[in-house]
Amino acid sequence: MTVVRLEKLRKVFDNRVVAVDDVDLVVNHGEVLAVLGPSGCGKTTLLRLVAGLETPTSGRIFFDDRDVTYLPTQKRNTAVVPQTWALWPHLTVFENVAYGLRLKKKMPKKEVERRVKEVLELVDLVGFEDRKPFQLSGGQQQRVALARALVVEPEVLLLDEPLANLDAKLRVELREEVRKVAKRLSITSIYVTHDQEEAMAVADRIAVMNAGRIQQVGTPEEVYYKPANFFVATFIGRSNVLRGRVAESKGEVAVVDVGFLVQAEAPQKLAPGEEVNVVIRPEDLYLGGGRQMCRVEDVVFLGRYYSTTLNCGGVRLKAEGQRPPVPIGEEVAVEIARAWAFRP
Ligand code: ATP
Repeated sequence: MTVVRLEKLRKVFDNRVVAVDDVDLVVNHGEVLAVLGPSGCGKTTLLRLVAGLETPTSGRIFFDDRDVTYLPTQKRNTAVVPQTWALWPHLTVFENVAYGLRLKKKMPKKEVERRVKEVLELVDLVGFEDRKPFQLSGGQQQRVALARALVVEPEVLLLDEPLANLDAKLRVELREEVRKVAKRLSITSIYVTHDQEEAMAVADRIAVMNAGRIQQVGTPEEVYYKPANFFVATFIGRSNVLRGRVAESKGEVAVVDVGFLVQAEAPQKLAPGEEVNVVIRPEDLYLGGGRQMCRVEDVVFLGRYYSTTLNCGGVRLKAEGQRPPVPIGEEVAVEIARAWAFRP
């Protein structure tokens, strides 16, 4: 049972690069938490701090009520699955997985065999024990890396873009397996990725990070449907962004003039006259229903949906929907089912 708690965790490199900026975060027991953010936002540094591979500039790290902030990495009982799975090329799959165990403690041979066998079963690699890494596909190698991390029975599993080097199809398959294994073993896990779909697929909750700070923590649904700020709203999912001015503000709802009037959810309290960004997801624009008249400028068929470019009185919007498209050049009534207004 391990709960990971970060308190005001901060890491500054060379007295000037603030990689992790006063992060407060709790990862519950058995939870898979994805840290999602763009390149350079501090995800890897955050993970390395939890692993004990970096020392924080300030702040604290707790595993349950144990303060592990300055505990050396080998005493933390964490395991890291890195982006490039540095397997030993001259060792077999079995030996690669057993390696971590032999390092950790003097364990009877029979026990090593039993535990290696168990994790190889878990990652679906039974029958591959005697192969060398070069005789495996990329996906199989990454399973070995996962097995090697799991065999030491870590309290906390730390995954740093573990699937980044695999092709798209394999990534989708393996992310489901990683989740299944982590949940089956109830290991508290932190999964770093810049891929929002991957974060949604593996995680119970997502911590969206930008410029060293956690922007929002929530379930995939929460960060998708209730984004806390402009960064989260535009980083997750696809979006139309319109500049506008608040015409009316009623608590959590604002009416914004973007060239026409849009009713928008306002997670931040906004004042009339304020300049804002309005975010509308393409799938929240329904063609043939609402009050806003738009001209269809272009329609592209993308398999799962039609992408329609609309011109709504000089304001361009992209809509996505499965309904057969309206012919190019025609006027159509558009309903804006959901919009958000944020300070820029
Ligand atoms: P990516 O997805 O590209 O790996 P990231 O979100 O994991 O990015 P980090 O690797 O944590 O980002 O880097 C955060 C910031 O800290 C970056 O500006 C990076 O250049 C800087 N940084 C990371 N490690 C060091 C270091 N050892 N010395 C100096 N600066 C560093």
